Formats: sequence, structure tokens, C-alpha cells
Amino acid sequence: MIGTLLLLHFYLQIECEKTRATYFICVKPPQSIFAWGTSGYKRHFPQPVPQRKKIIHNFTRRIQSKIKDLLQQMEEGLKTADPHDCSAYTGWTGIALLYLQLYRVTCDQNYLLRSLDYVKRTLRNLNGRRVTFLCGDAGPLAVGAVVYHKLKSDGESQECITKLLQLQRTIVCRDSDLPDELLFGRAGYLYALLYVNTEMGPGAVCESAIKEVVDAIIDSGKTLSKEERKAERCPLLYQWHRKQYVGAAHGMAGIYYMLMQPAAKVDQETLTEMVKPSIDYMRHKRFRSGNYPSSLSNETDRLVHWCHGAPGVIHTLMQAYKVFKEEKYLRDAVECSDVIWQRGLLRKGYGICHGTAGNGYSFLSLYRLTQDKKYLYRACKFAEWCLEYGAHGCRIPDRPYSLFEGMAGAIHFLSDILAPETARFPAFELGSSERDPKVQKDS
Ligand SMILES: [Zn+2]
Repeated sequence: MIGTLLLLHFYLQIECEKTRATYFICVKPPQSIFAWGTSGYKRHFPQPVPQRKKIIHNFTRRIQSKIKDLLQQMEEGLKTADPHDCSAYTGWTGIALLYLQLYRVTCDQNYLLRSLDYVKRTLRNLNGRRVTFLCGDAGPLAVGAVVYHKLKSDGESQECITKLLQLQRTIVCRDSDLPDELLFGRAGYLYALLYVNTEMGPGAVCESAIKEVVDAIIDSGKTLSKEERKAERCPLLYQWHRKQYVGAAHGMAGIYYMLMQPAAKVDQETLTEMVKPSIDYMRHKRFRSGNYPSSLSNETDRLVHWCHGAPGVIHTLMQAYKVFKEEKYLRDAVECSDVIWQRGLLRKGYGICHGTAGNGYSFLSLYRLTQDKKYLYRACKFAEWCLEYGAHGCRIPDRPYSLFEGMAGAIHFLSDILAPETARFPAFELGSSERDPKVQKDS
């Protein structure tokens, strides 16, 4: 324990040296979590170890009280939200996911029941228009299956899974113009299946169903790659609205990320021969800064969001590191993390799709992978910025209380700061019963 605290202290000093220079997008420099006052960080160090423990505890209490406060605001605000939007992205499934998360972190059964209220609401309003977890019916159905499962209502849970699998026919049809990306396409349906199996145990959704979806995604990527004469360099190429997007939401990073999930059971040969060279192709498109373009044809190094840019791609790089065990992927992920640290406090707001909370998740994931406290510190600093919700003069999103654009996402992130070892970017990262394998730090 003492060792951990000393390590934390060491990194705090390193970061504090850098802080003033790095927050150039920041509207107002964040106050220190671990030191009192705002007038320069350095003079507060070193502090005696026992005090720091207390301060961290204080920070936890600040987060807990802010969560309570924001939850109240959110519930009040949701009274005027679109009653028909049942999506995870901007609607009621997102709120159900938030309460499920609060149940996970606190074990308070009331949160699970709250989640159930929202689940019931969404299941009455399935619209059959879209198929993904984030923007379509697969979200409400998958979350419904999991919430009912946790409540031991196996009949209702199974009914959700049956309906979820009925969507599959549209997904695997090769002639449809369904895209492959995460928000509206096949990868977003694949996530729903993997989510159910991760939360309920393997076999809840049968492997053959998963394989059919994976095969459809691979076929589609191969076809476009051939059409574009990129079969050698990028064997799996994807587009959305005729643009070859790179990021997590609409692009290749999100699709490759799903294909590399162990639960997707993509065979090693496909991973090595198809996915890996495609990721390397994407890596070569990165900007000098370490950030990534929003699409292959875009030369502007502007967006540092989960949806477009390094905060989304970093997850793909970390997953590539886990799957292929090559240092270059971890190195690139660390570079992404530096860009996010420098430019990731966003005027767009506090949300997770294109806001500070979503960018903060990249640090939590890198912390889990490396166990390097530096990244936990960075996540805490972004969380601290979110604690002053509304005070930074950010733009107000269209759905200000939703999971992906607004307040629910920020609450989700803050609650994950309380349990960083099991934190997961919602509707994207998959949980695991085991902790991520520890990796050796670069010396
Ligand atoms: Zn976005």
C-alpha cells in the first residue's frame, strides 16, 4: 500500500511539472486533486504520505457527492427529454445503462430497479428502424436481457434475447446497404451480442450467431478493399456514407476493435492476415502529433474525440497490443494518451462521445493495461474538470442529459473513477471477469 502511494507521488510530480504547459485547450486549468489551492502545483509537493491518503479519500467523497447532485439534475432534466428516443446513445437505454453501472459500483439494489424502470419503457417502444446497440433496437433488447437476468427473471431475459436474434437476418444479408460501423452498422449489432455473453456468461447467445455476424463484417471489408485496390495494404476497408472513417464511432478503429474482442472468436489467421495489416495501415495515417484523422481523406488535425481521433483509436491500439503482443501498439497507444492529455479537455462539453469524460476513459483503460499510476492521475484530472460541470462555458449538447452527449455520460465516467480497475467505456468496452493482463512498462 505504501509502495503504491509512493509511486503515485512520483508520478504526480512528473505530471505537475508539465501541467501548465499542456492544458492549452483548457478553458480553466483544473485544480489539483491532491493539493489545496490553485496557484501552481509544484509548491505543494512533496507532501507527507499519510496526508495524501486522506486527500484521495476527500476526492472520492467529492465525486460521490457530485454524482448525487448530477443524478438529481439529470432526473429533473429528463422530464423534458424526447419520450420516444429509446437509444443507448441519446435516449432511455442510455439511462438504464447508467443505473446498471451505479448498481455495479455501489451494489445498491435500488439502482437495478431504477434501471428496470427504464428498460420496461424502452421495450414498449422498439421501433424496428435500426439494429445497433447504440442507436437501434439491439441496445434496449440486450440491456433488457441483462437487467432481467440480474433480477432472475429468466423468462423475460430470454424473450429479449430471442427478439435480439431476430434482428440478425437484416445484419447478415450481404445485399443490404447496412454499414459496418459501430453506431448504425454490423459492428454495433455485434457489440450487443458480445455484451449479452459478457454479462450473462458465454452461450447466452450462441457462437454460431456471433460467427455469422463476424463473417458478414469480414466479407464486407474484403469487398471494399478489393474495389478500392487496397487488398495488399488494407485487407479490411470500411466506409460510411461513402467516406472511409477512421474513428471509433463510424470508422475502422471501432470495427477492428470489435473484431479483436476475444468473445468475437475471430480465428487467429484472420486476425493476423486481415485485421493486423489493416490496423497497421490505419496507424500510418496518423498525424505527426500522434492524433488520428477523422477519415482517410481528411488532412486536418482537429478532432480529439472518442468518435473521431485518438481517444477512440487508442482502444483499438491497446486491444491490438493484447492480441498481437507487439510493443509498437502500446507505444502508439501511449502517444495517443499524450495527445489526449494535451488537447482532450473539450469545449464541446462533458459527455463521452465527444466530450471530456469520453477522453478520460482512454486514461482509465491505459491504466488498467499498464498499471501505470500516471494514467490514473490523468483520468482523475479529467474527472476533476467534470466536477465543475457547467462552469467551463462549454457548448450545451442537443440531448444534454443523455449517456453519449451529456450528463449521464459524465456521471458514468465519475462513477468509474471510483472503481478504476473495472472501469469500462459504456456500449463499447466489454467487461471481463479477469483483470487485464499486466504488461511490463518500457524501460
Ligand atoms: Zn461524437
